[in-house]
Amino acid sequence: MLRFENVTAGYNSSTALEGVSLKVPEGKIVSIVGANGAGKSTAINTISRLVSIYSGKLYLDDRDITRMKPAEVVELGVVQVPEGRQLFAPLTVEENLKLGFHRLARLPDAADRYQERLAYVLDLFPVMKERFSQRAGTMSGGEQQMVAVSRALMAEPRLLMLDEPSLGLAPMVVDRIFDILARLREDGLTILLVEQHADAALELADYGYVLAVGRVRAEGPGADLRNDPALHHSYLGNV
Ligand code: ATP
Repeated sequence: MLRFENVTAGYNSSTALEGVSLKVPEGKIVSIVGANGAGKSTAINTISRLVSIYSGKLYLDDRDITRMKPAEVVELGVVQVPEGRQLFAPLTVEENLKLGFHRLARLPDAADRYQERLAYVLDLFPVMKERFSQRAGTMSGGEQQMVAVSRALMAEPRLLMLDEPSLGLAPMVVDRIFDILARLREDGLTILLVEQHADAALELADYGYVLAVGRVRAEGPGADLRNDPALHHSYLGNV
């Protein structure tokens, strides 16, 4: 579904990704792992077209999206759950979910689709039913992450990208979020997951990439990368 072809990208002439080639096949979970500053967030923000691409190409299906604007990429159904969740803290859970639906709000069948999406996310996270009117900023980190994932799902994504969803969360909560990602894959969603928490991310993934200092250092089926002690030693030392 998504393909990087030899992409070099960065910020104001400094390079954060160098010659990166990777693929996210339809219906799969692909994880990008690596230490702090490896370029993982840059990879997601490159896809969302928030980072300059200096050379190489980016394709969604067979469409060249290298020069697209951020809003155009969202229109194509590429949606991210950003690092740190970035909820609207003073707004309620329901209001945050409505903002996620914004992309579809102009469609003639918007009212029905809104109800359908809402039913879907409440089925995934039933606990949110009781939290509908709670201000997002007053929720726990795990609950906020669930709202952030739900908000992204309200946009009916084709490709869901998550930037460090485990950040600051207890292991049990991380397991719960990752179980939900597995369920979303069963429902046919394509997922790109970026994580410092490499073991769990690679266990979940169909395929993984190890990034270090902006380059792909290794790639392969998630389990193979996870069980390679040399990789842990060289690139994933902090997990
Ligand atoms: P982290 O887990 O710390 O977010 P990461 O793997 O996601 O790490 P990036 O945030 O993509 O790494 O950072 C890659 C490189 O790009 C780093 O050298 C970082 O300093 C640089 N960088 C990131 N964001 C910007 C920015 N907005 N402007 C300039 N340089 C940036």
